[in-house]
Formats: sequence, C-alpha cells, structure tokens
Amino acid sequence: MRQLIIKSMFTLHHIMEIHDSLGQAETLVQYLLALKAIGVETYDSFVTNGHSEYFGKHAHRVVSPPTHEALPIAQTSSREKLLEHLDLHSQGITSYLEVRILMALSASSDCFICRKHAGEEAQPPGGYLLTDAQYRVCHAPIMLGGAGTLIIESQRHFLDFAEMTDDEAAALGALLKRLYAALKQVTEAPRVYTMVTLDGGAPHFHLWLIPRPADATTRGIAFLASDHTCTEDEALAVVATLKQALSSP
Ligand SMILES: [Zn+2]
Repeated sequence: MRQLIIKSMFTLHHIMEIHDSLGQAETLVQYLLALKAIGVETYDSFVTNGHSEYFGKHAHRVVSPPTHEALPIAQTSSREKLLEHLDLHSQGITSYLEVRILMALSASSDCFICRKHAGEEAQPPGGYLLTDAQYRVCHAPIMLGGAGTLIIESQRHFLDFAEMTDDEAAALGALLKRLYAALKQVTEAPRVYTMVTLDGGAPHFHLWLIPRPADATTRGIAFLASDHTCTEDEALAVVATLKQALSSP
C-alpha cells in the first residue's frame, strides 16, 4: 500500500533524474519503463516551448519547465540555427511516439479497456462513435445491451469521478449533454439511464448510457436488471444514425 502511494506521488525531481540518465533515443524503452515504474501513466510534450505534463493516478500531474523559449522565425535564417530547431522539433515528434509507446506498454497489462483502445481486443460494433482527448464513446457489445446502449470510456486509466482531472470532469458533463440529445433523437427513448459500477474487472472508468424504450414493460432498477441484447445489424444501424446526429451542429 505504501509503495502504491509513493508511486502515485512522483515529483519533477524523479522525472528529471530519469531524464538525465536515460533520456536518449537509444534508451527510449528503458526511459519509458522507468517513468512507468514511478507511476507516470501518460504524458504530453509541447513542441512550442518544450515543456511536458506528466500524469499519474488520482489526477496527479507534474509540469516540467520549458526547455527552450519560443524563437522568432528570423532566427532560423542560418543553416545551423535551422538544424537546431529541426532537432527540437524532432524531439517533439519523438515525444508523441513516446506517448504512444507508453500507452501500448500500459495496454499490455491487465486492463481490458486499455487493451481494447490499443486494438488488442475485439472492437465495438461500428467502431468508436467519438474520440477526443479525454474520452471514447462506443456502442455496447450486442450481447450486453439493447440497440443504442452506449459506453463512455476514459482515455486515461483511472477508476472514478474522484480521480478525474478538472478537464476530464468538465468534458464529461458536456459529452453527456451531447450524447443524451443525440440518443433521445435517434432512439426516441423517453428516458436514458446512466450507470457507473466499475465492479466488472480492471479499474478503468466507463459509464453506460442505456435508453429505456417507450414500450418497455419495466422501469428503473427492474429495467436495468433485465437482460438486453440486440442484433449486430441493429447496433450498426443505430451507430450510423448516431454518428450523423453527432456530426450535425
Ligand atoms: Zn485501463
């Protein structure tokens, strides 16, 4: 338990130590594994000034200072300067690759949703409806939900609302509003239920949106507790219509 707490509380000092000893192209994999070992789950690097943001569990976030100042275009006039800048940019591109590798490393662990995001598990019917920086939205597996049953999955691996960043919390509210409007329009369901249990396996946030049709004979918990399925064709049809509804302003 104590080790877990230490892991989630990495500091800029930890990151810089790893960067100094392993931060070269040849030791990229060791570098990423070392970051993962101290609890870094993902990070973003910004080409504009070279600063990076590192994310761990419980919305833990560490921001590194800029590595260079944003330089005016006039300074790229010499070949030497141009090469220097290209090198900085290639570091930015490498960082993007690093993020992907880091995600792949996490995906090979024991989390079904991370493996699904990495393409290592069967993909949802019709593919993902929406993908943004914080969330992915897809139709539920046909054996687990009626037509129009959607699942919102966080991009980052974390358990529940308490572990969200402020950005993730705000984005979820806006996403729910958008999906509710589209679901009610497309399925004509008078109610859409929301369910979060996170008791099914790996602790990776996901939220169910379950349309309750007008002709359903049960309500509330009784409706949720009954079995719901749909055919592949029904799921594909509703996904195609939802994609249209979501793309129109
Ligand atoms: Zn996960």
